[in-house]
Amino acid sequence: MSTVPASVRHDYPLERLATVRTGGPAEHFARAGSDRELQELLSWARAGEQPVAVVGSGSNLLIADSGVRGLVLKLAGEFLNIDLDGLRLVCGGGARLPAVAANAARAGLSGIEFGVNIPGTVGGAVRMNANAYGGELASVLEWAQIVSADGCERRGPEQLGFGYRHSNLKEGEIVQRVSFLLQEGDPEQVKETLEEMRRRRHEAQPQGIKTFGSTFKNPEDARAEGRSAGLLLSEAGCNGLQVGGARFAPKHANFIENTGTATTADIVELMTLGRQRVLERCGVTLEPEVQTLGPVDFPWS
Ligand SMILES: Cc1cc2nc3c(=O)[nH]c(=O)nc-3n(C[C@H](O)[C@H](O)[C@H](O)COP(=O)(O)OP(=O)(O)OC[C@H]3O[C@@H](n4cnc5c(N)ncnc54)[C@H](O)[C@@H]3O)c2cc1C
Repeated sequence: MSTVPASVRHDYPLERLATVRTGGPAEHFARAGSDRELQELLSWARAGEQPVAVVGSGSNLLIADSGVRGLVLKLAGEFLNIDLDGLRLVCGGGARLPAVAANAARAGLSGIEFGVNIPGTVGGAVRMNANAYGGELASVLEWAQIVSADGCERRGPEQLGFGYRHSNLKEGEIVQRVSFLLQEGDPEQVKETLEEMRRRRHEAQPQGIKTFGSTFKNPEDARAEGRSAGLLLSEAGCNGLQVGGARFAPKHANFIENTGTATTADIVELMTLGRQRVLERCGVTLEPEVQTLGPVDFPWS
């Protein structure tokens, strides 16, 4: 077995790294602050045949109560950088999307305004093809540099299999760096757009709660008749519905809130209940948007 890199922690609590604040510990955990550190950690994991997972801001993440086997990484240090290069913003995979949107606005660049309200990292946004208010990550991504135990390569958007909240990134593939290609805009106009998006978001969503944002994807099923997952859950009487410490937010039924004592098991049970109610009421099967880390078993899958 090769020497354990100095940054590795064992049995490390992950709860605080997920915005909903549930879940157990990582068997091994490390923050990687440079290409060299990341490479060293991946080589170590590979030598020990350990699975590798990555957390961003944990803003769309449900972590198993029993914890996560193998190495869990979080990007730090130089992976938080956002560098302006003409019409491009070259960002580390750990840079936060609202900071990218703010940097673009300061430089009078347009195209990534939609990121202002998405509380995730650039890496998580690539993985999820994050979108809001008609803007989506796929449309501004020039390339993403992906690293795994097998090596490192740059991929363009056409190689990433983007769909609705979907990319083809596999487990163990880490978005290390990204280039966004933007357009020249009017700085005042870009700032106004950010303000307007913030205002709309404030009106539509509950603030200051522990949540991972959308629980289920908006369905494409014709029986939904264009209704969002949130509206279907609402019509099925889910607002405020509670299991243990987890409840569907009274203001937005597609957001699950940890009221203080929730476990991941509570959330899974609540999701099962909400999904069942929507199926019984209108025949639509909701699919989770939230990503899982470790053994989180949905009873229907
Ligand atoms: C209040 C609130 C509002 C939200 N609004 C929106 C919205 O409007 N639009 C939207 O699209 N989403 C929204 N989200 C969901 C979430 O912010 C996005 O999905 C975001 O892109 C997730 O990024 P993250 O860094 O938090 O990823 P995490 O939640 O940490 O992880 C999500 C997935 O991405 C993977 N991942 C994370 N970092 C990397 C990396 N560097 N390389 C490879 N894979 C990685 C993880 O392994 C996991 O599979 C919202 C969430 C909240 C809490």
